[in-house]
Amino acid sequence: MGKYSKLDLTSITNHNRINVFNCILEGKTINRSVIAKKVGLSIPAVMSITDDLIEKGIIYAVGKGESHGGKRPEMLSVVPDRFFFIGVDVGRTSVRVVVMNNCRDVVYKASKPTESVEPDDLIGQITEMTMDGIKEAKVPDDKIVGVGVAMPGLIERGTGRVLFSPNFGWRDVPLQDKLKACLPFNVLVENANRALTVGEINNMQLKPTSCVIGVNLAYGIGSAVVLPNGLYYGASGTSGEIGHIIVENHGAYCSCGNYGCIESIASGDAIARQARIAIDNKIQTSIAEKCGGDLKKLDAKMVFDAAKEGDSLAQSLVKKAADYIGKGLAIAINMLDPEQIILCGGLTLNGEFFIDMIKKAVSKYQMNHAGRNVQIVVGKSGLYATAIGGAWIVVNNIDFLSDN
Ligand SMILES: [Zn+2]
Repeated sequence: MGKYSKLDLTSITNHNRINVFNCILEGKTINRSVIAKKVGLSIPAVMSITDDLIEKGIIYAVGKGESHGGKRPEMLSVVPDRFFFIGVDVGRTSVRVVVMNNCRDVVYKASKPTESVEPDDLIGQITEMTMDGIKEAKVPDDKIVGVGVAMPGLIERGTGRVLFSPNFGWRDVPLQDKLKACLPFNVLVENANRALTVGEINNMQLKPTSCVIGVNLAYGIGSAVVLPNGLYYGASGTSGEIGHIIVENHGAYCSCGNYGCIESIASGDAIARQARIAIDNKIQTSIAEKCGGDLKKLDAKMVFDAAKEGDSLAQSLVKKAADYIGKGLAIAINMLDPEQIILCGGLTLNGEFFIDMIKKAVSKYQMNHAGRNVQIVVGKSGLYATAIGGAWIVVNNIDFLSDN
């Protein structure tokens, strides 16, 4: 691309159409003169766009609103079942599917244990669960804009190829192409942390003005950076790998191949692994009872439960994890000075005490005066957050308003 670029008339028209549609979506029921004020267009321009959207069945006239002196204005709303967006969360332990409608409401959700992490088996499961979801939600195929698949690991931007997914043991799997061959829809594969963060930002109705970071604290640790114009990928598309910042020289082996990464100390897998080692070393702890003596069943939640009950080993593991997560966040704050950090993922469901420990660690490690305006909050979308994020990837990347 050249040094200079110009917006052609079509992109301006599309841009205005998206703004008008989003304004109606946010307002729920809104009249044309309010839309014109909010999006900064003339009333005739808004008329032309809304007439076109009505003709395409994307919005509809609900009735007349209150008069403020003149004629009663016509009120407009979004047609909920005009478009649908599918989101899939490909997790190591479960696969989750959601169907989201044109008002961005989740109208269907389902979860099943991951049957196999072999690429072809997992592609079969994703295909089956997607088609089942569409059938059960009773959505006609021609109303589906696309399927957004959230996959852990390094994903090549644009092609949706999985370059490396340590948790799944995948290298160079053309996931997006393979799914396109199985599903009769647009398919977009995105990194799970990016999808999750985009979903949370939209569900929380945040509009980043500088930078928002989403951090996924689960069996692994990842993050995504969102700027006002959308996701920040970096020069080679690998931004956000906060979990693989090395914090202990000669530390524990990490799934990425290095040693001493934050993920190898503070992730759900790492917390469970350290508890197993301690039990093997005959350290007294109630965690052993929680897994019935079967160390294979021991997971991070048992460690958190024991910590809440006062078990000293569990408390020290949780505190150590919070401390290293806080160190990682402080590095991110010193580097990027974000306005908000959204903590998401399974580990955040273990209670406020863990979040408080992380916040304390952040203030211990962040540079004096750095990141004064940062807010650290917990995501609100729960277990289906990543799948919902997958659906938002479709919303944000496929221009469904002008294609139809
Ligand atoms: Zn690592």
